[in-house]
Amino acid sequence: MEKTRVGVLGATGMVGQQYIKLLENHPWFVVTYVAASPNSAGKKYVDAVKGRWNMNIAIPKQVAELIVEDANIVSKAIGKCDFVFSALELDKAATAALEEEYAKNDIPVVSNCSAHRTTPDVPMLIPEINHSHLEMIAVQKKNRVWKKGFIVVKSNCTTQSYISPIYALEKAGHKIKTMIVTTMQAASGAGYPGVSSLDLIDNVVPFIGGEEEKCESEPHKILGKVKNGVLSNDTSIKISAHCNRVPVIDGHTVCLNIEFVDKTNKPSKEEIIKIWREFTSVPQELNLPMAPIHPIYYTEEENRPQPRKDRDIDKSMAITVGRLRECKVFDYRFVSLSHNTVRGAAGGGILNAELLKAKGFL
Ligand code: NAP
Repeated sequence: MEKTRVGVLGATGMVGQQYIKLLENHPWFVVTYVAASPNSAGKKYVDAVKGRWNMNIAIPKQVAELIVEDANIVSKAIGKCDFVFSALELDKAATAALEEEYAKNDIPVVSNCSAHRTTPDVPMLIPEINHSHLEMIAVQKKNRVWKKGFIVVKSNCTTQSYISPIYALEKAGHKIKTMIVTTMQAASGAGYPGVSSLDLIDNVVPFIGGEEEKCESEPHKILGKVKNGVLSNDTSIKISAHCNRVPVIDGHTVCLNIEFVDKTNKPSKEEIIKIWREFTSVPQELNLPMAPIHPIYYTEEENRPQPRKDRDIDKSMAITVGRLRECKVFDYRFVSLSHNTVRGAAGGGILNAELLKAKGFL
């Protein structure tokens, strides 16, 4: 099979580098185009990331020699790639306009950016949860009179860390009424160079701009339903979030307290663990290359999950859950963890693209 040509916008950043790493030897995709800010434009990729290549492998040979283009000049990408991953750090309005410009020019966009997450006709795709939202692509193309291009986004990396266990419970019939999420988010979540070391080492920063709002609202769109070409959010879960930056390199850890709608018929601890362990979905059925074998792992060890020990389980694409126990205020509490720049960003973006490819959209 001839590989689909991929462009990475923001290829020099924290998420962009993770794309370059994960796409090396990908069975379906090959990186043929890299773009970043005007500062990097014109340089070979290897020179543009000199001194700030953060991955634990050498720069893939095929990408090292590519010339980085200015991501703001859409015409440069035309003919050089079949779709792009967007991992740009620009202001929201500029990112939204730029991603639309790529789509308008027949280049589909699989985005990690927040700019289009609240756009009603743009699906916020998590393949294990809302693959049915792909229906919105036809609606989006019609609304905007786009022929080949479209935009699909990923959720925020923190939402990704806890939404699958929540969805698995809801899918099994245990609707959730209220939840409190308290996050401990890794330094890499702030991009490179991110939070200064003197602000983060020996410290916890109890504020991350915009994160609490995302954690409280994104699940509503992810769990929404498409009917007659309209994606309606499911706002039935009331969420309250505390977001903290902690001195961990990779891996967002989230403590959750949840309350069920039906308190008289709530599942036992054993039932919940069984639901999580048996949860599987379309990416596993389709055997997508980036899909974890098990989307959710439950760990019995009382002091797990831990970012350093659990973030890399199953290609760093699984969610690891542990410490499920009764809550004295709500019904249950537990801890959920995922790798923010892999499952929460580039790996999740690649999984989205694989689903799009498998379903004939790319
Ligand atoms: P980052 O490390 O700061 O990288 C930003 C990228 O954007 C770089 O390639 C940079 O190019 C490029 N860029 C900056 N200004 C630009 C401009 N004016 N025009 C064109 N390109 C420009 O950020 P990141 O952590 O990789 O995040 C990238 C995106 O993914 C953000 O939207 C972020 O919210 C989202 N995201 C991040 C994570 C995470 O865990 N880090 C998770 C989920 C989603 P230069 O190198 O040339 O400056």
